[in-house]
This record gives sequence, C-alpha cells and structure tokens, in this order.
Amino acid sequence: MSQIKFLFFLALCAAFLGGCVTNPVTGKSDFSLVSAQEEVAMGQKQYRPSQQQQGGRYVTDPNLNAYINRVGQKLAAVSDRVHLPYEFVVLNSDVPNAWALPGGKVAINRGLLVKLQDESQLAAVLGHEIVHAAARHGAQQMSQGMLMNVGVQAVGIASRNSGYGALANAGAGLGAQAWTAQYSQGNELESDKYGMQYMVRAGYEPEGAVELQKVFVTMSESRQSSSLDTFFASHPPSQARVLANQRMAASMPHGVRNKAPFQRAIAQLKRDQPAYQAYQEGRKALKDKNYSLALNKANSAIKKQSNETLFWQLKGIVLAQQNKNSEAFKAFNKAVAANPEYFSPLLYRGLLGRELKKNRQAEQDLIASYKLLPTQAASYYIGDLALARGDRHTAKNYFARTARGGGKLGQKAQARLNNL
Ligand SMILES: [Zn+2]
Repeated sequence: MSQIKFLFFLALCAAFLGGCVTNPVTGKSDFSLVSAQEEVAMGQKQYRPSQQQQGGRYVTDPNLNAYINRVGQKLAAVSDRVHLPYEFVVLNSDVPNAWALPGGKVAINRGLLVKLQDESQLAAVLGHEIVHAAARHGAQQMSQGMLMNVGVQAVGIASRNSGYGALANAGAGLGAQAWTAQYSQGNELESDKYGMQYMVRAGYEPEGAVELQKVFVTMSESRQSSSLDTFFASHPPSQARVLANQRMAASMPHGVRNKAPFQRAIAQLKRDQPAYQAYQEGRKALKDKNYSLALNKANSAIKKQSNETLFWQLKGIVLAQQNKNSEAFKAFNKAVAANPEYFSPLLYRGLLGRELKKNRQAEQDLIASYKLLPTQAASYYIGDLALARGDRHTAKNYFARTARGGGKLGQKAQARLNNL
C-alpha cells in the first residue's frame, strides 16, 4: 500500500516536472518514471529468480538454448533498441508460455516450443517479447502504478512439524508461483505489430506470426489444465489478433521459414515428450497419494530420458513418502547432478539430508538452494542447522528472514527467535 502511495506521489511530482519520454519503438511520447538504467537493473535482478520459479533452465539438451539465443539475438540486432543486454533462455516448464522482463531478459518454455513448426513461428514469439522490452512496456506498467508481480519474496512453503513435513509439502507449493507479466491489451497489439516488423527485418516469413496466433486460439479453445487459464489471462488470444496479423502480413515481403533447423533443434525435446507425459501422470498419482503408480511413472520417465532433473526429483519425493529414505536420497543426488543450478532438488536433498543426520551437507545444500531462490523452508532449516552446531548469529539471521515470510513456518521461526 505504501508503495502505491509512493508511486502516486511520484506521479504527482512528474505531472509538474514532466515524466514524458519518447518511445524508442513507436516514436510516440510516453509517460515514464523509470529510467532506462533502472529498467535494465530491474530485469537483471529478477531474471534468475523468475527462471527458478518456473522450472529453472532446460538443460537436458543444452544445444537447444544455444539455438534459441542465436535466433533471439538475430531479432534483437534489428530491433529499435539494439543496446539492451538481451538474453534468451529455455525454461523447463510444460506451460506453453514466453515472457520478457524489462531490459531484454526473455524466456520461452519448452512447452511452447513443441507447439511450433518452424523458425518463423519462433521468431514471432521472440520478436513479440523483444518489443515488450524495447518499447518499455514494463516501465510503462510500473509508472502507471500497476506494479509487476515479480517480487522475489521468500516463496512460502508450508511445513508441518519436521523437516520431513516441509519436504512432503514442498511439492505442493512449488510451481504455483509462476510469474506472468501484466501487460495491457494495447501493449500486446503493439508487440504483435512491431514484432512482425523485426521478423521481416531479420528475413523471416511474416505468416509465422499469423500461424502463431492461430496456435494460441486453438490452445485456448481446447484447454484442459488450469495453468493454461492463468497463461491466457495474461495473453488473451483472439480472432482479432489473428486478423490484424493477417492484414499486416499481406503487406509485407515473404521470407524464410527455416523449418529444418528448427525441427533439428527441438528433436530431442520431441523424442522426450512420452517421458514428460509419464512424468505428468506420475505427478498426478503422487497428488492422489497413489505412490506405487507414481513410482512406476517416474521410473518409466527415467528409462526414456535419464538426464532430466524433474524425473529424478519426482522419484525421490515418492520414495521419501514411502519412507525409503536412503533410496530417496540417491534419487535426489541424481536430480541435483542433472541440473545443479535448480533450487528445488537441492532443497529436497537438504531437507532429507537433515532427516538422515547428514547435517553438514544438508546445510550446504540448503544454502545453495536459498542462493538460487530464497524459500522459507530453506531459510528455516539453514537456521535450524546453524543452531545445531552452535552458530547463534547465523541462526538468528535466518530465523528472522523466515519470520518475515509469515505463515506457520514464519511463526515457528519467530518463536525460536524469541527463545534465542
Ligand atoms: Zn505479450
């Protein structure tokens, strides 16, 4: 609330001092209170935690990310703001989504890549996201007091009585934190329009943007999962957007589609689709507490692709539920090895390690996890383990951080803080 008041105060000041800047994409005058440096700094700061909250980087096939970044940089080089520190990453999420943070920090989910046919459709996605950054849409939203929902607060993960309780519930808490940009409808249309111009400047076939919108319309008509609801709430697909892109494409020169290089780049991902399907079924079985089925599905996913952190993590969670703790620990070892840069397997291994009295390693795991994404569960148990080895100073520090997150774990942390 005070932040909104502060923004309102800034808006009043700006009304006198002038907060108008020329939009680098449209050339029109825009109201903005956020400087270009602030914008870039904000994007830099939020980029890594935003990735962590949405599955982390997709690393099973590292060549895919290199390819996506190449296509993205090609488009950024012909944008209206070529000097932004653009970066393009693939996230390990099934949700067919893509987003851009201010300053040119872009992400696309593997769940969207498998819906696309060629590089021109990919260029339509990335061109659209580049416009959000280049046209300072994030800065506009912030200036209008519509703060973007990208706070890197501790992710609340409820806990019962023990570390094991946190472990059991962590799975439920994760994934619900997905961040979505809140750009206006006007921003979306502007991104479609100028994104197509970037596509054409980079030599791509503009029909790719028409097909992309058709893919979105089809997905929104046949959607089943609730994760898609939140996605389409922030990216409303419509026949109007299809038609607008069609009109625009009709007046543009034809270009390349690069279907073969695109299909080569996503080949591994496509081969792994049955494995991800088994994983999803396993997650559902876990939720239904059908542990033997969940374990079967996790094993079947691993048999198809042994290098996916999510599959090993699921196996570890299920085994821990069955009280097969040492086997679970081995599965978490594999999960961490498959992607050491993802907070969640480190968190699970740390929580289970503490149960198994591997205190030193558990503390290291939890600290590593906390650095990647500050969660309440990690901070509470870092405090707990620090206290166990007599380090009251560190314990106080982490209990205080946990307490600020509120909730049950926050209360527990506060009580222990009071005892200290
Ligand atoms: Zn958009």
